[in-house]
Amino acid sequence: MGSVSQTSLPSALLERNHILKEILDRVDDYADTYNLVDYSSLKQEVLKPVLAETFNPETQIRGFLKTFRHTLAYKAALANIDSQQLKDQIDAFAAGKSAKEVVGTKGFDVSSHRSPPVHHHFSLLAELRKLLLGVLELKEAVEDVLHPQHKHVKDLPVVFEGTSDDHVVECYSEVPFANWGMTVQNEPRFTFLPTTVRGVQNIVHFAIKHNYRVRCAGYRHSWSSIFSQDNEIFISFVNLHTVTTLPDPMSIVPGEYDPAKAPELKTIELKEETVPGKKRLCRLGAAVTNEDFRRWSVAGKAWTFPADVILVEVTIGGVNGPICHGAGISHKTLSDYVRRIEYVDCNGKLQIVDDAKQIKAAAGAFGLLGIVTHITFELDAMTYAVMKPLKEDVGLGVPPLKKSDIPVALRSDWYDAPDAAQRIATATAEFEKRAANDYYSEWFWFTYQLRIWTNTFNCTNDATGAVNYPDDANVLLQWVQGWIGGVITAVPLFNAIPGYWQAQLIASLGMAALPPTFGENKNPTMKTLLPDALHFRRGVQNMRVRDLELQIPLPPRKDDPSKPDFSIVQRAWWDVINLVYQDADTGSDPSSAMRIALEMRIMGGSDMLMAPQKGNDLGTVSIEVLTLPDAVSDDEWQGFAQKVVDLWMSYGGNVRPHWAKEWEQFTFKGVEARKYMKTIAYKDQIPEFRDTLGEIGRQHGWTLDQLKSRYSNELWDKIVFE
Ligand SMILES: Cc1cc2nc3c(=O)[nH]c(=O)nc-3n(C[C@H](O)[C@H](O)[C@H](O)COP(=O)(O)OP(=O)(O)OC[C@H]3O[C@@H](n4cnc5c(N)ncnc54)[C@H](O)[C@@H]3O)c2cc1C
Repeated sequence: MGSVSQTSLPSALLERNHILKEILDRVDDYADTYNLVDYSSLKQEVLKPVLAETFNPETQIRGFLKTFRHTLAYKAALANIDSQQLKDQIDAFAAGKSAKEVVGTKGFDVSSHRSPPVHHHFSLLAELRKLLLGVLELKEAVEDVLHPQHKHVKDLPVVFEGTSDDHVVECYSEVPFANWGMTVQNEPRFTFLPTTVRGVQNIVHFAIKHNYRVRCAGYRHSWSSIFSQDNEIFISFVNLHTVTTLPDPMSIVPGEYDPAKAPELKTIELKEETVPGKKRLCRLGAAVTNEDFRRWSVAGKAWTFPADVILVEVTIGGVNGPICHGAGISHKTLSDYVRRIEYVDCNGKLQIVDDAKQIKAAAGAFGLLGIVTHITFELDAMTYAVMKPLKEDVGLGVPPLKKSDIPVALRSDWYDAPDAAQRIATATAEFEKRAANDYYSEWFWFTYQLRIWTNTFNCTNDATGAVNYPDDANVLLQWVQGWIGGVITAVPLFNAIPGYWQAQLIASLGMAALPPTFGENKNPTMKTLLPDALHFRRGVQNMRVRDLELQIPLPPRKDDPSKPDFSIVQRAWWDVINLVYQDADTGSDPSSAMRIALEMRIMGGSDMLMAPQKGNDLGTVSIEVLTLPDAVSDDEWQGFAQKVVDLWMSYGGNVRPHWAKEWEQFTFKGVEARKYMKTIAYKDQIPEFRDTLGEIGRQHGWTLDQLKSRYSNELWDKIVFE
């Protein structure tokens, strides 16, 4: 950030309207330097309509496209979309056609498209894949891959997918690895892309022979260092093009999941019912993505996960490994619904864990047990979510414990009204009702906004009036919103403006795509299949973010210890909002370290041995702060996020971070993160986890030492094995 402006808004004025007005007044100061931006579109189609509260998501998202369409970042991103049809759709939308018209005439037919940094790299990989798997005879291919000019195919091992030697596992040498959040980078010796169980076994045999460690990943959407390491073996369950390419068109590519065409590690098979008509087992390949499963589930209209992560661009192996979760006080983590794990052990043997006690370690084992090939979940019978999302007053959606906790900038007219206390009391009762009873419960505050987004819902068996949500036009709109979000963060103007301007522009974009989209005071009701409601946002991964999330146990109420005390939730929420404003008062530029949102979900506890929700019998508040990578470059994120950790850790109870998100760079109660996790937060859980793994090993013929030398990495050596 290198702001042209010398002054900035005082914290008392730091809210949407004042920031928008300031941008309107002063953005022209940047015009000489950043002359490729269409300032008129920014003002007329983005800033003024939001200020006037004449919301129309299409106008705003189109306004963003028009604002940046002459910039190099936009042109490069558009040029790198492979599908001419999608380019035409974006152009047509930018030129004024509605999303419905754009979708209605052509539908979605996006083959694939690539981001500039990976384009060349992937072209190479595509050629290599052809070389290995198609065009040449195996013998010739093997000779050719040994050609010393090809770094990524130099000295490639020949590992077979099956028992016979007709199909080689796709493999590359020394291909650099980076996770999506760009917090982990390394260079594995070999990257394998198996499609069969036998292929995985053969990779492990190869690793044993050459003494490599083996770690795997799906979509690489975790931030912590739970991946592979330099010079070891890395197994990718998603093809290298997809995982290194933004934007990812997966959620708008047409078609249904086709079990007949799915490779062995991507199968979805229904098994027996466990509670007739209500619960049924389903065996999924570890490489199945949430989008595959959503499509399968929606097509069948019969069985669904009870809860899930919102993101569709994740793998089943990936969400189970680090114990991911959805929302709703009656829901545990995804791993809690696992009934059987099939994995390749450290001897290369395929094994099964289905014992009720052992599964608590085997599901949610971070890749330490071995390479998971299939996971059997217990699904629920399909229901329909009755969504009634709201954009409501920040002071009333999640009400503060005391009125004065609302920063001056966010106080509405009612703040000084005689019935203010009554309003807060009524709002608190409504908030508690949602938190305590609703099937799903989630709240978003985009930084500096006067309204929060409340998304809590219940379900019904009655399908009458159900619609597709989001519908095709809305999926396109959400996807374009994510795409342009990713584009604008690469535009030089965006990096030059103050952080709080960035936050406001992202908030305008984010709020535009969330319902109610027309008129913030409307209360739309959408009935839709549960899986569609669980994945209400698409394309969100097109914009990289940084993310800290802690799981805070809900304590018992003093008057009735059998019930959770939700005041801790209000406190955790308002402590962060106040921190944002406190930070604003300390510098000349209230740059806003938190440039995207504060997000919070209520969920249950967990029985998984290594879950951060374990022991939270009355429930958990899963709460997170998200920002743009620019806040990290501006050196603001670390200090802010550490203060957030300090606040959330101060409430008592065993507060623990989400394993997959950012945690390693912080101290917890003054203790270095890894040490804290090992010696305090998971003091009892880690020995139990290790013992249970040891018990599985005794039955399956391996030891913990073998596990450590085959499947661990530097992080897990310290946390689990040392
Ligand atoms: C935009 C965004 C939104 C998110 N929303 C949520 C959310 O709502 N709730 C939530 O809980 N999390 C959420 N996350 C975190 C995300 O769910 C996790 O990072 C998850 O692990 C991602 O899945 P993946 O396929 O990318 O796995 P990766 O990150 O690629 O892999 C994670 C780990 O899983 C293990 N693993 C993967 N496959 C296997 C296998 N076959 N065998 C053994 N081990 C394996 C490996 O140890 C690997 O290191 C979100 C992340 C992002 C970027």
